[in-house]
Amino acid sequence: MTIIHYPNELQEVISELKSEALSIGLVPTMGALHEGHLSLIRESSDENNVTVVSIFVNPTQFGEGEDLDKYPRTFDDDVEAAKKAGASIIFAPTDDIMYPDGYSSEVSVKELSEKLEGEIRPGHFNGVTTVVLKLFNSALPDVAYFGQKDAQQAIIIKKMVEDLNVPVEVRVMPIIRDEDGLALSSRNRYLSQDERKEAPSIQEGLFNASMLYREGETKANKLKFEIDATYRKCKTFDVEYIVIVNTKDLEPVETIEGSTLIAVAVKTKESGTRLIDNIVIGDPL
Ligand code: AMP
Repeated sequence: MTIIHYPNELQEVISELKSEALSIGLVPTMGALHEGHLSLIRESSDENNVTVVSIFVNPTQFGEGEDLDKYPRTFDDDVEAAKKAGASIIFAPTDDIMYPDGYSSEVSVKELSEKLEGEIRPGHFNGVTTVVLKLFNSALPDVAYFGQKDAQQAIIIKKMVEDLNVPVEVRVMPIIRDEDGLALSSRNRYLSQDERKEAPSIQEGLFNASMLYREGETKANKLKFEIDATYRKCKTFDVEYIVIVNTKDLEPVETIEGSTLIAVAVKTKESGTRLIDNIVIGDPL
């Protein structure tokens, strides 16, 4: 396992590997690796000769008052887990390496970045797209792997890649869940016992809506009502949004036809943890 801190050093190593016709997969992460991350690493190492895992808690995607300082940092365990899952290079830059004095550039995917999560976390996706493009330019991957867990992020990154002619194939992998259905997240560890007990309801609401859809209901407001009814029984969190949108432009749909994203966000009352989850109906992301 090689650990690299500097973009130019990674570029050199990768260029050398590419000259031997080896394919490169990249899995961008903020560390605190769990089975969700590891599923991406395994997929990449199945499909590529070399898998690079980046571990970087990107400060520019955190807003004022968010959890940047308390975000879990478990570097040594992450390196071990990534290695076991098939990674051969860890890219772990520092804040100063990524954003040295005088740094002044930003990538912004307009409109898509201002909706859903972007409304609640202004500027968040500009931080994401900027760091992801920097990671692409550092690791020069053939394929990059993202989770459907962050569906809006995956949609925005695909749009950036298309708009800016970035020569990377973006693959979006399924959401990995705990046994009780809660989508795995590095932030689940913030939950109080009561919050954790009730958190599987987030997925249950989505599941109920997808059952209703499978029974023939295509009206978005009926499916939303179903999700809301499940969440209204919950005492430990407030709903931030329940949306049913087109996966292309993230605009609300009235009737489900074509590829549709049902996305939800809640905020727990005791620990103040934001949790997001989603399902995609029709063509996957
Ligand atoms: P993060 O470290 O939270 O920035 O996540 C890194 C990557 O792992 C992103 O592409 C996420 O969408 C993905 N990811 C996080 N949680 C899961 C999960 N439960 N299932 C699948 N992918 C996930």
